[in-house]
Amino acid sequence: MNIQEINLTETVLSTIQLVKQTADNKQMKLNVIEEDNLLITGDSSRLKQILANLINNAVVYTQEKGKVTVTIKKENDYAVIRVSDNGIGIPEDEQDRIFERFYRVDKARSRNSGGTGLGLSIVKYLIENLNGSISVESKLGLGTTFIVKLPIHPNE
Ligand code: ATP
Ligand code: MG
Repeated sequence: MNIQEINLTETVLSTIQLVKQTADNKQMKLNVIEEDNLLITGDSSRLKQILANLINNAVVYTQEKGKVTVTIKKENDYAVIRVSDNGIGIPEDEQDRIFERFYRVDKARSRNSGGTGLGLSIVKYLIENLNGSISVESKLGLGTTFIVKLPIHPNE
């Protein structure tokens, strides 16, 4: 672990570069909304791993010309990061299960995306290790938002 002060907006912007080509190919819009400028204490490579999984999912599970928005906001002693898309959505009765290892919604519809179903289980594990939390809000056919809460200064 390499603990340091991390500028959250800079980390989000650099992580978004990883999916930029895929998003451009799908003519998608990628937006970052900085409601608060936040410096948080943590390991930037872990944070990037978390963000990359969520942003990549948002791009993969959204149709062409769709939109992905990442919002950064301070709530009390927490940094709240919302990764939002207007993609295919997740059925209500499966929203808990997507955090399980190897769980994928409707294997037929996601067959072409070639994932393993491990991404979100790793994301959840990493976030809980940082004493944070993750939740999901989604409407089938309309889109999905993942909400990540991380303590700004975990050891104070
Ligand atoms: P990988 O291990 O490559 O990430 P994966 O994307 O299938 O594979 P997860 O990231 O764990 O695995 O996601 C689990 C499932 O949750 C996905 O297969 C997909 O069905 C659903 N899912 C995740 N993110 C979204 C999203 N933004 N919109 C709709 N469905 C999603
Ligand atoms: Mg994934």
